[in-house]
Amino acid sequence: MTAPILIVGQGIAGTALGWEFERAGFSFEIADAGLAGSATRVAAGVVNPITGQRFVKNWRIDSLLEPARKFYREVGEELGERIMREVRIRRLFTNEEEFARGREKAARGSWTPYVDAESVEREGFWINGGFQVDPVRLLEASRERWIRKGILTERRVTWREELKRRDIVILCSGADGYQEFGDNLKFERAKGEVLEVAAVGAPFEPGLIRSEEVWVVPRSVGLAQVGSTYDREARDLSPAAASRELLEGQFRRMYPGINYNIESQLSGWRMSVSDRRPVVGRVPAEERLGLINGLSSKGVLTAPWIARQWVNHLAEGIAFDEAISISRCWRQGIEEK
Ligand SMILES: Cc1cc2nc3c(=O)[nH]c(=O)nc-3n(C[C@H](O)[C@H](O)[C@H](O)COP(=O)(O)OP(=O)(O)OC[C@H]3O[C@@H](n4cnc5c(N)ncnc54)[C@H](O)[C@@H]3O)c2cc1C
Repeated sequence: MTAPILIVGQGIAGTALGWEFERAGFSFEIADAGLAGSATRVAAGVVNPITGQRFVKNWRIDSLLEPARKFYREVGEELGERIMREVRIRRLFTNEEEFARGREKAARGSWTPYVDAESVEREGFWINGGFQVDPVRLLEASRERWIRKGILTERRVTWREELKRRDIVILCSGADGYQEFGDNLKFERAKGEVLEVAAVGAPFEPGLIRSEEVWVVPRSVGLAQVGSTYDREARDLSPAAASRELLEGQFRRMYPGINYNIESQLSGWRMSVSDRRPVVGRVPAEERLGLINGLSSKGVLTAPWIARQWVNHLAEGIAFDEAISISRCWRQGIEEK
């Protein structure tokens, strides 16, 4: 029997949605074309309360952090897999100006409750409250479960075809949805590259993330991910020599003198709209088509919240939060194809 709801795509958006639908007892299916091109697969999976070169608190972090942590903890327990860990994040200052700005922000209480003002010193400061999800493990374990239950099939679908036999189709298709709606919904995409670095002598401490211009996220004592670049001009996802040079240079500066090998160089597209907030809801002029996209660099934090909104919307007709609703960035009607 064909389920009335279809989720297209099983990155972090489709995965969070699948879990919330399953918990709500909805009848749904997922179609995913394969994880090779998924941004979630290359993500570090970190939720960091204070980010960016300007050291700002993440958008809505105070209300989203704990529910997201709870969501991943519970999903991990359900899967019987360790998909998340608590982390301490060491943010390093690169110059005096950054240090001065950091000290001022801490003194003003801009980082409360994530930074203890006394911890701000010339080298850097500690950020508390962050956590790290293992995106590959989460995706793969969820995928296996849903294949076993007959919920997920590995195939590429088109929403127009699927709408002929479903009540609603929800696109969680990441970069594949880049030009889906032409000028009506203008996504920007930025290529991000990371290196996987294997090092001799166990220099990494799992649970301790170091962040400067780039971050180093341990996967184990001898393996870490180093990232990431941010390139809005890139045309494809092929590995760029300049990215490797930049990441490797920064890594060597942060871990001087260590003996390492670069195991791989991975890349993915970050999708966003101009205000960098997610895009969620029913597509105007095609009400049976839904969407979650534009998760930018924060998909791990926002996906559980967004998935919950879809449940509330479908079960009780509750409107989506206006700050992320598709209507704020949709221009005209849908084009005929
Ligand atoms: C280098 C890098 C590092 C990052 N680090 C972090 C981080 O530390 N923390 C964080 O929160 N975020 C991070 N991000 C951002 C994060 O990766 C994204 O926010 C998130 O992965 C987007 O998820 P998604 O589900 O929207 O898309 P995706 O993960 O791209 O998933 C889309 C899925 O849809 C499938 N699909 C597409 N079209 C179809 C179709 N027609 N039929 C069937 N299936 C289809 C694809 O195969 C794919 O599996 C990072 C991003 C990059 C590039």
